[in-house]
Order: sequence, then structure tokens, then C-alpha cells
Amino acid sequence: MEQVFVKNYTLPDLETWVESIGEARFRARQLFRHIYSRRIHSWSECSDLSKMFRVQLEFGAHLNALKMVEKLEASDDTVKYLFGLHDGQFIESVLIPDPPRCTLCISSQAGCSFQCKFCLTGALGFKRNLSTAEIIDQICQVQQDQGARRRITNIVFMGMGEPLANYASVLQAIRIMVDPNGLAFSHRRITLSTVGLVPQLRRLGKESPVNLAISLHASDDALRSELMPINRKYPLPELLSACREYPLPPRKRITFEYILLDGINDSPKQARELVRILHGVRAKVNLIPFNPANPDFGSGYRRPSEGRILAFQEVLQRAQLTAMIRQSRGTDIGAACGQLVARSSG
Ligand code: SAH
Repeated sequence: MEQVFVKNYTLPDLETWVESIGEARFRARQLFRHIYSRRIHSWSECSDLSKMFRVQLEFGAHLNALKMVEKLEASDDTVKYLFGLHDGQFIESVLIPDPPRCTLCISSQAGCSFQCKFCLTGALGFKRNLSTAEIIDQICQVQQDQGARRRITNIVFMGMGEPLANYASVLQAIRIMVDPNGLAFSHRRITLSTVGLVPQLRRLGKESPVNLAISLHASDDALRSELMPINRKYPLPELLSACREYPLPPRKRITFEYILLDGINDSPKQARELVRILHGVRAKVNLIPFNPANPDFGSGYRRPSEGRILAFQEVLQRAQLTAMIRQSRGTDIGAACGQLVARSSG
């Protein structure tokens, strides 16, 4: 029998698989409940299935796709998980409690190929795409580990990798996340963050109403191309027109992430330029003061002073553009934005 990873499957896929091994179709729904509602650790816990079926599952169906290797807790309650993949790669997920919310930041690729200058994940290069099961299992294992202590309420694709470069597996994972029989998240509680791959972005708009975040980081093409090489392929006018045309639900906005790099993109003039290019886009801005990696990978970037950060925000706010400053979480354990590298600290 061919080995399968059950967390790759939506409920209809699982029904097909269950039938293919000679079981009744409705067993798939039972399995889904065991996996996602009861959160079983092994098939032996499924006492309502026949002995024969359980043996088939033991031999043919992997319940888990990841192995938890390390768990680090920051002084601010952020928890970073390091997971090993079956081929020796590593990924990280970060749990960010912020009562009443509790957000899990998940990875979509091992490494990343986009080479943004300020990001440590990019500096380490691309290993491979994650499977749907590897994406889903981050949520399952973190929730299992937290038990009754904390319930994950929100999911953000802001860990390692570029989710739109792994489109099929990410979309399939979102289907399982929002299935009421699966992980049962509302679309409103899922956010996908992208460097701005325009064709996939347009496709996403048609296929999934999850929240969208765009990593912008500069208000002109010359600087953005320097910081984010992908901008040469999809420059700002193209990216922003895709954003203008993005089919947003009523009252929804696109989040634009903007890292503040001292002396690079943080001047009041650049803030005014940002206001100008976002004109006509239903936008809100998340300002992320640069997080130096620990140890630094030689990027040479610095976090601006508090005064400069506030001055930048004020320009946006005076222009009626909602702008929040994102407080970095988990910096002492290398869990903040752009610090994920997936290697063991030991
Ligand atoms: N590839 C996707 C998903 C990763 S999201 C994307 O880029 O959107 C990770 C976020 O952290 C992005 O907005 C990224 O630009 C930001 N980031 C990367 N390095 C950072 C750093 N050193 N300091 C602050 N934010 C950083």
C-alpha cells in the first residue's frame, strides 16, 4: 500500500482515498473529526473504527508530517517552534499570544528564494516548497502542544517562505483550515502575506477571501527593486493596479507592510510618496521597525529612532491613511519578522 499523509487531503480527497482502500465513504468524515476536532496523537485512539481499518491506517497513513524539534519561549510569551521535515529540512512557526487573540505565524516554504535584502530567511536561500500536510501540521502540533492553555484564533502566512510561490499547496491548506469539519477557521482570521507576485495575486482574489497583506517596504521603484529584487519583475504600478482591482469584501482593506530602515526608506518625503501611491487603494499600513537578526547577517540596516518612526506614522495619519506601528514580538528568541532561519539553537 502506498504511504499517504492524511493532512494533505481535503474531506472530498479523503473520501476518495478511504474508498480506494475498500472502506465506506462516510469513514472519511469520522477520520476528519478524529484528526481536527479530537486532535488524536495516534490512530489507536480511534476506537470507533474497525481493527482492520486501524491497521491499514497504521501502515499506510501518516498522521503527522512534522517532528517538533525545539520550542523556545520569549519573555513576552511568544513561542517559537522548530520543526523537522522528513527529508532533513527545518522550518519555524511562531505563536503570538495577544489576548483575547492568539495568532500563529506559519511557514509555507523551507527557506525562500526572493532574496529581500533585509530578511534573514532570504539570506539563507531556498530549500523547497512545503506540502499541504506540512503547512496544516504546524497548526495541529502547536495547538496540541498548547492544549487547553491557549486556543489559536488567527493564522498568518508570515513565517518562512513566499506563500504565493507555493500556490497550490497553500490554497489546499486554506481549504482545510476553513472547512467546518476541518480546522474550522473563518476566512477573516487568516491572512496571507506576499512580496507581490501579481499573477498569483489576481488568482487568489478570485479563489479565496482570506485577508491580504503586501510587503511593500518602499514607495518608489528604484528603492523597492534594490530592497526586493522581485520588484524588477512586478514593479509598483503593476502591483498597485492589481491591488486596486482586488475584489475585497465590504469594509475590508489590504494591509501594506512597510519595514522602517533608518536613513533608507523612513523620510517624511517617502511617507508622502507612500500616501500618493496608495491613493485609491483600500489600504491600511503596518509599519514594522527593522528587526536586526541575531547575529546580524551583515545587512547593515538599522532601526530608526522612535522620533523618526512616529514622524513617518504621522504623515500617513494626517492623510487619513490608517497606520499602525507593529510592536515586534519574540525578538529575544529570534522569532520576530525576518528573523526566522530554522536552525537549532543547541
Ligand atoms: N514572503 C512573504 C511572507 C513572509 S512575511 C512576504 O514577504 O510577505 C514576513 C514579513 O516580515 C514581511 O513583511 C517581511 O518583509 C518582514 N521582514 C522581513 N525581514 C524583516 C526584518 N529584518 N525586520 C522587520 N520585518 C522584516
